[in-house]
Amino acid sequence: MNRNQQLFEQAKKIIPGGVNSPVRAFGSVGGVPRFIKKAAGAYVWDEDDVQYIDYVGSWGPAIVGHAHPEVIEAVREAALGGLSFGAPTAAEVQIAEEIAKLVPSVEQVRLVSSGTEATMSAIRLARGFTGRDNIIKFEGCYHGHSDSLLVKAGSGLLTFGNPSSAGVPADFTKHTLVLPYNDVAALQQTFAEIGDSVACVILEPIAGNMNMIQPSAEFIQTLRRLTEQHGAVLIYDEVMTGFRVALGGAQSLHGITPDLTTMGKVIGGGMPLAAFGGRADIMACISPLGGVYQAGTLSGNPVAVAAGLKTLEIIQRPGFYEQLAKHTQMLCHGLNAVAQEAGLPFCSQSVGGMFGLYFADAVPQSYAEMAASNTEHFKQFFHGMLDHQIAFGPSAFEACFMSAAHTPEHIADTIGVAAEVFTQMVR
Ligand code: PLP
Repeated sequence: MNRNQQLFEQAKKIIPGGVNSPVRAFGSVGGVPRFIKKAAGAYVWDEDDVQYIDYVGSWGPAIVGHAHPEVIEAVREAALGGLSFGAPTAAEVQIAEEIAKLVPSVEQVRLVSSGTEATMSAIRLARGFTGRDNIIKFEGCYHGHSDSLLVKAGSGLLTFGNPSSAGVPADFTKHTLVLPYNDVAALQQTFAEIGDSVACVILEPIAGNMNMIQPSAEFIQTLRRLTEQHGAVLIYDEVMTGFRVALGGAQSLHGITPDLTTMGKVIGGGMPLAAFGGRADIMACISPLGGVYQAGTLSGNPVAVAAGLKTLEIIQRPGFYEQLAKHTQMLCHGLNAVAQEAGLPFCSQSVGGMFGLYFADAVPQSYAEMAASNTEHFKQFFHGMLDHQIAFGPSAFEACFMSAAHTPEHIADTIGVAAEVFTQMVR
């Protein structure tokens, strides 16, 4: 037994499933999760001292590369000044101003510690602001694990959802309607029938939790128009896409101004930091100004804010996104070419530093299309790459992430290994 196997056995005895977040358990690909000992730049090392080129990037935060020396130094300095005060700080004002500068739809912002908190709070705020209960989300979009968002579609278009997790009372999801992503007709029908009772619509403006799926221009434009017409709050969940697909997030690429935006991952640079913000008139409803309660012992934590501020500084340096996007495209083009040579149904696409790999003939446009892709092929690909020290997320339904530390050499290595793995895969 190697050390990863030993640790997994040991972990399973004391931590449910051996992990602190389900996807880490390799449930959908099988095998033993790698226990990570350290990370630097484009690499992670497991407990058996095997080095991997990493395209997980802590599920998005590691955009400047793991353990970037400047981020580590900022964290060290902040830590020396105290880990948490439970009182306002100058640095949190600075990061709030920085976020508002980079994402112009954000007039005011509040810091929290996880994406789950950000979306949960944004939804409560939208309900408080509108005085309405109903919310709309889209199939395949993930917004964290708060009760009213752990919901699967009802039996018909206008049937409210059912809990997708045990432990969530049906009463808690009876106000959540789940619609198919990119389905303009479903949106129009829903708003025509119940639009005036909708508090908010929340979506991933480029979905990254059903692999990566892009919205059609018609879909997001219709969504913006209908929410405006019916007085529903439009929440862009940019926890994954914020500062990842572009400096201004997905909203800057599509020219849409949401009412509220949630952020996480990159803004914490690997530390627990997230945020929600948007229109000042809506944000004014938050406690202590307004009646919508929201709080957090560690909110705006000084060490996390220091990591976030330094990360936001680095990503604003000239050419950062141009290089990131170029490298991500280089990888996707290379993978497409070697898959074609191997005669394998495969495609990929990228936006900025985020990309999707699909074992399908065409890029999926919805959860249903993604679910129809060949997940058996993904499993073989995943393990083939991992055996050659290249790590992708352990599920066909996850997006992948490039960092500024990935070089053309890393990318060429990845494509070379993929060419071999694709050829050896069982059809
Ligand atoms: N929203 C989106 C789009 C996410 O991708 C995630 C996590 O992956 C979340 C919310 C939840 O964030 P966290 O895991 O920090 O609670």
